[in-house]
Amino acid sequence: MPGRPVVRRSLALLAAAALVAAGPVPVGAETPGAGRRAATADTVVAISVDALNPSALRKLGRERTPHLHALLDEGAGTLNARTEHELTVTLPNHTGMVTGRRVHAGSGGHGVTWNDDRRRPRTVQAAAGTPVESVFTVVDDAGLSAGYFASKTKFSLWDRSWPLATDAQTIIEDNQRLVRAFKRDLRGATRAFRFLHLSEPDTVGHDRGFMGRAYLRAVRRADRRVGAVMEVLRTDPRYAGRTTVVLTADHGGRGDNHTDPTKVWNYRVPFVVWGVGVDPGTDLYDLNPDFADPGRARTSYDGVQPIRNGMVSNLALGLLGLPAVPGSEHDLGQDLDVSAD
Ligand SMILES: [Zn+2]
Repeated sequence: MPGRPVVRRSLALLAAAALVAAGPVPVGAETPGAGRRAATADTVVAISVDALNPSALRKLGRERTPHLHALLDEGAGTLNARTEHELTVTLPNHTGMVTGRRVHAGSGGHGVTWNDDRRRPRTVQAAAGTPVESVFTVVDDAGLSAGYFASKTKFSLWDRSWPLATDAQTIIEDNQRLVRAFKRDLRGATRAFRFLHLSEPDTVGHDRGFMGRAYLRAVRRADRRVGAVMEVLRTDPRYAGRTTVVLTADHGGRGDNHTDPTKVWNYRVPFVVWGVGVDPGTDLYDLNPDFADPGRARTSYDGVQPIRNGMVSNLALGLLGLPAVPGSEHDLGQDLDVSAD
């Protein structure tokens, strides 16, 4: 079903109407004793560029990927973050991003080891064999709205897993049309958290080779799509000065695929934070002595941790003044600092 939009407008509108009716929810009104702090951002936008190998940014440079480089120049970032240790494929890593969990269920992970449209197991909870919370459920529990916009149909897993907490769940494979829908949502709905997934470098990489010329052109297109979103966030008064963006990737890739989790070009990903509360032009490892730059090493979950793509949720929730995802592991303490304060 290529390009079929899956939008539950009625639910999204209902949620928006409920927010308007209820007025702003006072931050810290719920979950007493959960270690709440003041919110830094009104809204967080997480962007995952599927198969964005940091080497592509180095190769293309500022001139050919101006928008991604602007995020790095104006934000706190690293081009040496890590994927999940176990797997360097799409659905396991993205599910790690929204749950803050590792992959393998036996050691507390989310259990999503497959990477296709299968309907068995039907939910993340069924895969894990236990209740699994997510960034969506924590935002929802706080009376706020969250949603995701993805360009692969397998992301319907998230709506099956957290149907009441995903107020928007739009799946459109055409990346340009997806970004248009995302911008419409930015302008039309009030949400604390949005997740945007751009697939094009991955789909082109599978067809023509990762880090090849066609793939690099796809990264440039992804750069322009990020730029189109940033244009709204920089200029619309509902977002300017009130928004934080977190951009990362599910895995890298080189040559034919990205499936070998022992290869540095597969497990190394960017992780960039931009916007309100962020020290511009800083390196995340410099800001965070509790985490360690892993060099070229493939890091396990033992010992000092690198910055991982799975930290997206708890970082976003911390910026929103909300507690970490219950049962999560990656940055459970919400210790990842994006400023020196
Ligand atoms: Zn892929």
